[in-house]
Amino acid sequence: MEFSQSVADLIEHLGRLPGIGRKSAERLAYHLLRANKAEALALADAIRSVRENVHYCAVCFNLAEGRLCHICSDPRRDQSLLCVVEQPRDLIALEQAGAFRGLYHVLLGRISPLEGVGPEQITVAPLVERVRRGNFVEVIMGTNPTVEGDGTALYISNQLAEFPVQITRLARGVT
Ligand code: ZN
Repeated sequence: MEFSQSVADLIEHLGRLPGIGRKSAERLAYHLLRANKAEALALADAIRSVRENVHYCAVCFNLAEGRLCHICSDPRRDQSLLCVVEQPRDLIALEQAGAFRGLYHVLLGRISPLEGVGPEQITVAPLVERVRRGNFVEVIMGTNPTVEGDGTALYISNQLAEFPVQITRLARGVT
């Protein structure tokens, strides 16, 4: 079956999204064609807005709409505690739990030799620089409790060993 060029383009782009195969891409495209026009265009606007307005915080690599994210620009946060997480969504989960009042550092990934991701592909160097210059007392490794998360935490712990900070692993409840 032949699609018009616009429909073919849409299916092509949707199909590049993670977890969306060809069939799902077609289904989504048909949905968008049938959906209320304002709703479909609101999705397009939301994609445009997030890409034009949201970037990484200059300090911690959390998502931010200004130069700094809402946590780095909050003077009430405890400047002596730093929690290292893999992704912005991990930070959001910890914030929702509400127990941590310090600052964060988002790695934007984890070290994964199998996937060819080394320390230079994530934000380890800015983290080391931040700890060198900062006044942190404790750095909490909040990477995920997986083989790669543990390996990343170990690598970073070694990188931070020369600094006078206490390095701990985030305790997580078993779910
Ligand atoms: Zn930040």
